[in-house]
Amino acid sequence: MIKRTLKQIQEMAQGQPISSEYSAIVVEGVSKDTREDMSGKLYIPIIGENFNGHAFVRDAIEKKGAVASFWQKDQPEPPTDLNLIVVDDTIEALQHLASSYRNQIGMKVVGITGSNGKTTTKDMVTSVLETTFRVHKTAGNYNNHIGLPLTILSMKEDTEVAVLEMGMSGRGEIELLSSIAKPDAAVITNIGESHMQDLGSREGIAEAKLEIAAGLKQDGKLIINGDEPLLTDRVGGKTNVIPFGLKANNDYQAKDITLKGRGTHFIIEETEYFIPVLGAHNVTNALAAIIVGELFGVSEVKRKKGLEQLVITGMRNEVVETSGGWTVINDAYNASPTSMRAALDLLGSLDGYGKKIAVLGDMLELGDMEKTFHHEIGQYVKEKNVDYVFTFGALGMEIAKGAQEVMEPSHVKPFMNKQELTRELLPLLENGDVVMVKGSRGMKLEEVIEGIK
Ligand code: ATP
Ligand code: MG
Repeated sequence: MIKRTLKQIQEMAQGQPISSEYSAIVVEGVSKDTREDMSGKLYIPIIGENFNGHAFVRDAIEKKGAVASFWQKDQPEPPTDLNLIVVDDTIEALQHLASSYRNQIGMKVVGITGSNGKTTTKDMVTSVLETTFRVHKTAGNYNNHIGLPLTILSMKEDTEVAVLEMGMSGRGEIELLSSIAKPDAAVITNIGESHMQDLGSREGIAEAKLEIAAGLKQDGKLIINGDEPLLTDRVGGKTNVIPFGLKANNDYQAKDITLKGRGTHFIIEETEYFIPVLGAHNVTNALAAIIVGELFGVSEVKRKKGLEQLVITGMRNEVVETSGGWTVINDAYNASPTSMRAALDLLGSLDGYGKKIAVLGDMLELGDMEKTFHHEIGQYVKEKNVDYVFTFGALGMEIAKGAQEVMEPSHVKPFMNKQELTRELLPLLENGDVVMVKGSRGMKLEEVIEGIK
């Protein structure tokens, strides 16, 4: 993590000059949360909608062991007895500090955005690069205008590559993150429908994701999902763009995708790869990792090995074995129409199982079109050989309605209560069956999994 004197921090963060009395004090690490270990750290008070971190500055320093704190200049009555660096805006100062630290370390950076698959791709890219380099990756979902700077500042000085997830909810956010991170390689995993509310259309979403090119290093590469016309129409054919996907028009195309046991095999050119996760959508995520690996000089043997050793962040197509002999695929981390379809494609493509059951919850934050999107997901189960659909939630009802139009209506069961859903589902399950569980984070569908394990 960052280790600098307060004088250096003040300069890097573009803060106001500090007293020479404490300019030589050394800070190791930063934190925005006084519930974390603060000893030796710089406290970053953030002003949020429901709280103002400035209320905890004294506590951070006197009780939690922080050695200094930022202080936003428009906040009344800065304490005169504490080591403060006065800044115009604490979040911007955090971003300046991170940007400067990134430049000083001079590691390579991979930026990853897209509607779905960012965290998964981050894990895959990291797994490939770790075979060869000292890598630091975004922890959990620290992917926004605060999380990304904090991720950079938590990196060790000797980091060789940083793999950074970049999330957004509106225009301009990815551009900001990219300008801080200055990626050598920028990946766009796909374009979905999340944040339609703020961006109006899928075109708007594509443009927002393409902002990742804004901070790209001069000879940096933009690695895009070439199966998405919204991306290829906009940047396809440019010399620094590398398209990947399942279709033939791509520079990197995966073929012969086969699901076996807990993982997926596929072939690029002549080389066979294996990933210990299921689904064609994960093959596209892996393609991005293979390209980044190759760009950064990871050998083919190590690229393969890195993917084979992959450990994925939980609840993303996680295969859960159960005492009753049925298989549960825990994809309850989150859901959007694109990722729901990917999950149903996966369920449809599984061979050698008994009954196939989908447990689907609401997809949240979809805006005016939400009912239509849910209805369409219901109809999407057609031709996926799904035997039963259980839904949870008010919007789940719309999925159920759509599903009843295309499959045996008595095999579609909507619920407003997870316990009831679990009670009805459990007696149906037999050895060899497979259950796909997916819904938005707010639906907490992992609770159903607890009940059917
Ligand atoms: P968030 O925006 O919440 O950070 P994320 O983009 O990081 O999400 P992941 O956490 O990697 O995405 O995956 C979330 C879900 O999206 C997975 O469980 C899976 O169902 C689905 N998914 C992953 N990759 C893809 C892809 N390439 N295309 C479509 N769906 C995908
Ligand atoms: Mg994520």
